[in-house]
Amino acid sequence: MSAYRIGIVGLGKIAQDQHVPVIAADPDFDLVAVASQRAMRAPGVSRAFTDWRDLLADPDVDAVAICTPPGVRHQIASAALDAGKHVLLEKPPAATLSELVDLERRAAEAGRVVFTTWHSQYNRGVEEARLRLAGQRLRALQVTWKEDVRRWHPGQAWIWEAGGFGVFDPGINALSIVTRIAPEPIFVRSATLETPENAQAPIAATLELAAGRAGERLGAVFDWRQTGPQTWDIDIETEAGAKLALRHGGSRLEVDGTVVVDEPAHEYEGIYRRFAELLRDGSSQVDAAPLRLVADAFMVARRTATERFDP
Ligand code: NAP
Repeated sequence: MSAYRIGIVGLGKIAQDQHVPVIAADPDFDLVAVASQRAMRAPGVSRAFTDWRDLLADPDVDAVAICTPPGVRHQIASAALDAGKHVLLEKPPAATLSELVDLERRAAEAGRVVFTTWHSQYNRGVEEARLRLAGQRLRALQVTWKEDVRRWHPGQAWIWEAGGFGVFDPGINALSIVTRIAPEPIFVRSATLETPENAQAPIAATLELAAGRAGERLGAVFDWRQTGPQTWDIDIETEAGAKLALRHGGSRLEVDGTVVVDEPAHEYEGIYRRFAELLRDGSSQVDAAPLRLVADAFMVARRTATERFDP
């Protein structure tokens, strides 16, 4: 079967770092068009638009990958579905839960595929952890996600705005792993959000999580002020006494102190493999769980103002 003809909307950091090269190496896809407000181009792609509406009007595009900030994703994705395109959504898939529910409904009505990508879920350590935790109960789970915002989000003003997610932009990756591997539903009991006085979105967050049993210890700490070595860890203990540790964002898994998976990340290759499967099947994949936990955290949060932060 011939390759799916795909376009990218938004040629920012993640589109250039991952989507463009991964699509180029994937025989299931042909990158045929890009839309960039700044008139950025992708190698070998002749159809380059500055307005994404022109890309959506192109009859030779089957599917679009929407790599913009989340605030405009619903508008672009719903127009894409109206134009008969299949849609791949970068994470977070929408700015709000209602928008995501709407996209799922629209895709079903249009008979098109919508796919919420959560790139951190595509590490083999994550899948191995999911299999090992199946049927277990959690006694403890601690997420530690601390990174240097200046290193990973240079020049990105939108992440500090209302709806920009702040430290939940990386934090939602950790939560996407938690919701993927947890053998039972996880809730946010309380949260503390630290927001710089010159920003609308938090720079740090501490979450008390719960599976709903007495004696459990579940939580998450996200912080964007960590310089030097970066930390993307999840430590888990089951009621049966097994200890699992996901390191480096899920690419390494230790079980009771022994390394059982340690592989370089191929997250976006996994995303496009899955998208091709969904397109072949004609089925959508909409996973709202990580976004729901973030929305819940914002709902129950105590808020504290911290000192000004100049990115
Ligand atoms: P970014 O560098 O700011 O790129 C986003 C791009 O979207 C902009 O460069 C712009 O591209 C386009 N855009 C911005 N506002 C727009 C608007 N109003 N209408 C249409 N297009 C608009 O951000 P990013 O880091 O690539 O992140 C984008 C998404 O990917 C976020 O949701 C983020 O969570 C996710 N993500 C990022 C990373 C990462 O490492 N940075 C990793 C995984 C996932 P043009 O000027 O080309 O139009």
